[in-house]
Amino acid sequence: MVEMVEGGDMNKKRGTNGNYQQKKPFDKCPVCGGELEEKEVEKLLRGGVHTAVMKVHAEVCLHCGERLYSPETVRRFEEIRRKLERKEVASFQLMGQSFQVA
Ligand SMILES: [Zn+2]
Repeated sequence: MVEMVEGGDMNKKRGTNGNYQQKKPFDKCPVCGGELEEKEVEKLLRGGVHTAVMKVHAEVCLHCGERLYSPETVRRFEEIRRKLERKEVASFQLMGQSFQVA
């Protein structure tokens, strides 16, 4: 009974991975040729005096740590940077203060 459930889940995952890999812009790290793994990472965005932290999915190189973002993610970064520059931050969640250390 348990084995049947596990087998079903595995097949599901394989199907999803297969579809995902076809869309990948890179198979290997363009910097060092290392293996890439999809991870959720925190990206720090700055625009003007404001900073925003955004959780996004990126392909992260297991060897050198290089992060690769999808074109849609990069477009969102640009959108958020523009909003920060224009101080259009009403829709963002206030996190706390940022400090510069000399
Ligand atoms: Zn690398």
